[in-house]
Amino acid sequence: MAEIKTVGILTSGGDAPGMNAAIRAVTRSAIYCGLNVKGIYRGYRGLIADEIVDFHTQNVSNIIQMGGTILKTARCKEFQTPEGRQLAYDVMQRHHIDALVVIGGDGSLTGARIFANEFNFPIIGLPGTIDNDLYGTDSTIGYDTALNTIMDCVDKIRDTATSHERLFFIEVMGRDAGFLALNGAIAAGAEAAIIPEISTQVDQLAELIQNGFRKSKNSSIVLVAESPVTGGAMGLAERVKNEYPGYDVRVSILGHLQRGGSPTAYDRILASRMGAAAIDALMDDQRNVMIGIKNDEIVYVPFTRAIKKEKPINRDLLDTLRRLSI
Ligand code: ADP
Repeated sequence: MAEIKTVGILTSGGDAPGMNAAIRAVTRSAIYCGLNVKGIYRGYRGLIADEIVDFHTQNVSNIIQMGGTILKTARCKEFQTPEGRQLAYDVMQRHHIDALVVIGGDGSLTGARIFANEFNFPIIGLPGTIDNDLYGTDSTIGYDTALNTIMDCVDKIRDTATSHERLFFIEVMGRDAGFLALNGAIAAGAEAAIIPEISTQVDQLAELIQNGFRKSKNSSIVLVAESPVTGGAMGLAERVKNEYPGYDVRVSILGHLQRGGSPTAYDRILASRMGAAAIDALMDDQRNVMIGIKNDEIVYVPFTRAIKKEKPINRDLLDTLRRLSI
């Protein structure tokens, strides 16, 4: 395989805390290994528009503690067309970029897989998403921070829920995945979580109310994953008002605050290890894989597996939540 001299790095799709720690790790690790680094701004859109600068170790100084991404992020429809990807490839050729590290979620890695195959070009992906919905890794960069943010918010809402003896539906992110809702509920001692993985199988709301989830309590907190499948917190509150009048029900939608904030130690360490591993993977002639973590070991996950949209939820967690909410 052709020798790699210059690596491009970009962040794409939804931002996640820890992306900066990953940018720092990729940059420094590449320089340590004698490679040149090019920072590509605004994801695939910036790649097509040639928003590219040389990156040195100073470009990534003082960013490990920052949320968001210093490279900015964007969504780009043009990259979904062969013509758009050809433009992106031409720009990379002009900059002599001979490998790419893409930090992003499911969509970004889908784009990376297509791009890599089309041009037979080496790309390494890093899982950057708060949703934790990429297969083949125990955790994604940003997930732990978002989980901690949710826990802090639910702790605060509990104070008012208890004082007024209310039922609260708190909506958290996770369109296709209930990791944030389920683990957030366990961490914050909530009564239940309503998640997309289960919504097609049972009516979780009916089950919850029929099981008498309020029998020993006057207030309750239920975490709901934002998803057309769960009905979202608003949809569930509406149902309670119509089907189970008598509950004093309120809704809180946590929204974008879940994406922000300084990354936790866990996310910084994860991003640092994964960033360094991305460069090791390239030096090791690995191609078109996402870096994952399994049982605390770095693993290489082929793009096709990482994005297969079937990361299973651990059913033991549902049981734990049920048991502890009596
Ligand atoms: P995330 O990476 O957070 O899941 P998106 O789903 O918005 O975010 O994807 C980010 C970008 O990845 C899109 O704007 C697009 O440029 C690129 N992308 C997503 N899906 C594809 C695809 N099927 N083909 C090519 N590019 C894609």
